[in-house]
Amino acid sequence: MSDKPRSVPRSFPLSLDALSGKPQRQGAAPTLAQSRIATPQTATQNKAQNAVRGSAPAYGAPNGITPSRAQAIANQRAQPAPAATARQNPLVSDAVRRAMVARIARQGVKDQLVLDAMQAVPRHLFVDEAFSSQAYIDASLPIGHQQTISQPYIVARMIEVMRNGGPLQRVLEIGTGCGYQATVLSRVAKEVFSIERIKPLHELAKANLRPLRVPNLRLQYGDGMLGLPQAAPFDGIILAAAGLEVPQALLEQLTIGGRLVAPVGDKLQRLQLITRAGKMEWTSETLEDCHFVPLCPGTI
Ligand code: SAH
Repeated sequence: MSDKPRSVPRSFPLSLDALSGKPQRQGAAPTLAQSRIATPQTATQNKAQNAVRGSAPAYGAPNGITPSRAQAIANQRAQPAPAATARQNPLVSDAVRRAMVARIARQGVKDQLVLDAMQAVPRHLFVDEAFSSQAYIDASLPIGHQQTISQPYIVARMIEVMRNGGPLQRVLEIGTGCGYQATVLSRVAKEVFSIERIKPLHELAKANLRPLRVPNLRLQYGDGMLGLPQAAPFDGIILAAAGLEVPQALLEQLTIGGRLVAPVGDKLQRLQLITRAGKMEWTSETLEDCHFVPLCPGTI
C-alpha cells in the first residue's frame, strides 16, 4: 500500500467541515458489488481480499462491464456535467457518515459531543483512496506498515469512556497511525498530543492533517510508552495499541482524577479504564473485549 500523500483540495485554508467529500474518481461509480462489501470485517480480512483481487483497482469498473465499455463510460464522465459536479460521492458523503454515527449510537455510545465529533471528521480522508468506499463501515482498515485505522465504534467508545461527560483540557494519544482518532479527539478536548513510533506513519498523519488545519493537535514522533513528560500531566490518555500492561510512565502522567483508556492483552484483549485516584493510587475497571495492533517499544 502506498503511503504517498493523496491530492488535497485546491483552496486553502479549508475548515474541517468543508472537507466532507472527495471528488469521485473516474469510473468509480458505486456498484451493487461495492455495497455488498460494506459489512463489518477485520482489516486482516480486507487485506487478504484485496491481495486476492490484486493491485488492479478493485473498484475501477462496474461489475460485468468490459474494459473498453468502462473506458467509454469513463470518457463520458470526463465531459464536464455541470449538474453532477457539485454532487458528493455517495460512498463518502455526509449521509453515509451519518449512517455510521447512527450505528455507533445503536451500539451504545451516548455522548453527543463524541457522536458530533465522529460526524464532523471525514474518515475517508485518512485511508488510502483504494479503501475510501469502505471508510464508513464499522471496521478497521490497513494504513500500511502492518498497522490499521481503528474501527469507528471503538474510537467513539474509548473517547466516551475517557471523557465521562466532563470537559477535557489536555489529552494524550499513544499511536497516531493515520491521525484519525487524534482528529476526533481534537473536537472534544482543548489540547491534544499524539505520539507515533513509526516515522512514515507520523509523516502520513501530518500529511493527512495539513489540509484540515487542526490548531489544537500536536503530533510527536517517538516511543509513546514513555509518554510525553514535557507536556504532562494529562487529564485523559488513550492507547490505540495493546500492551500486556499499561506502562507506568503513562500512569504517572495522569492528573489526579485523570482517566486512561487502553486495550490490554495479547490475543485476548480487554479495554481497561484506569483512573488516578491519588498521588500513588490508581483504580482499574475492565470493560469490553477489543482487538488492537500491539504496543511496541522504541521507534522505527
Ligand atoms: N489512532 C489510530 C490507530 C492507529 S493503530 C487511528 O486513528 O485509527 C496503532 C498505532 O500505534 C500504530 O500506528 C502503531 O505504530 C502505534 N504504536 C504502537 N506502539 C507504539 C508506541 N510505543 N508509541 C507510539 N505509537 C505506537
